[in-house]
Amino acid sequence: MNNKIDIGNCKLCGSLFSSDTIEIPDWFNSSKKCFYFICPNCKSLELKKDIENIDYEDSPQNFARKKDSKLVRVIKSTISYTHKINYNKIINASGKKKNKGQLLEIGCGRGHLLKLAEEEGWIVTGLEPQYSKYTEAKNNVNGEIYNSTLESVNFTYKYDVIILWHVFEHLENLGELLNKTKRILADDGVIIIGVPNISSLQYKIFSNNWFHLCAPAHNFQFSQKGILSLMNQSNMASYTAKHFDLIVSITGWFFSLQNLLIKPNNYYWHYLQKTATLEKNKKNINFVKFILTIPIIITFTVLGSLLDFLFGPRANLTIVVKHN
Ligand SMILES: [Zn+2]
Repeated sequence: MNNKIDIGNCKLCGSLFSSDTIEIPDWFNSSKKCFYFICPNCKSLELKKDIENIDYEDSPQNFARKKDSKLVRVIKSTISYTHKINYNKIINASGKKKNKGQLLEIGCGRGHLLKLAEEEGWIVTGLEPQYSKYTEAKNNVNGEIYNSTLESVNFTYKYDVIILWHVFEHLENLGELLNKTKRILADDGVIIIGVPNISSLQYKIFSNNWFHLCAPAHNFQFSQKGILSLMNQSNMASYTAKHFDLIVSITGWFFSLQNLLIKPNNYYWHYLQKTATLEKNKKNINFVKFILTIPIIITFTVLGSLLDFLFGPRANLTIVVKHN
């Protein structure tokens, strides 16, 4: 154990952390715990980097490199229309629907969103540090795709829209990242950021078993107040957009309900993804319970997603950011 931990301040709102931490099960191995500081002001969580957190088998990098199984690919292609719905919501939130110009996605994955943007007339650029996703994105999109992070690229354009879709929570130096993003944002440009929302109904219900916590791959678990404070501290104007993300909602309910009913956590996910964690846990799973609980989980997933849609606060938080 490392006892010399610099507690420091919340990187989002600047408040001094107390020594209070919250234990969140490691996403890959729920018998291990990760520790997060709790900001007393904005209630966001920040990963406490110490020996316990670093010494685990499935690093965020490994997680990021896992490939989809065939079943997952079939599921994803059947629901691929949700990409289009999500794309429309993101572009609507940017207010640039009728003013298509340069669009950059940081962490573009396989390029689903960029492909749709390109089809609608945007000039697109993508950054994707994971090599396998980068190669798929290159095949999907005509625009420039870099196998890189933001720090290592010299941009020649200013962008009208910059998207960070469920990547911000994985990153560390958010202030530096925002400064660099600001420099490449057009004067009237818009940054759209999507993150899991710990002010959500799902987090209130499932707490540490919430699927979208993804500890310790997520350095930050953002509250709405925390992420808006960060933008304010970075001298950016920001507000939250109304945005119901169907996939974030459904996966949140489905896998978190499983975590409540059957251990180990995220077993269904590992089953679908055929991860190494699945092999390790095979002996510990009760298959009768595993099958019998599926109808219950599906029922409550439908009801829960409806609750998200109608009332919120929703599992996905979309932030619109502009120059001040
Ligand atoms: Zn804070």
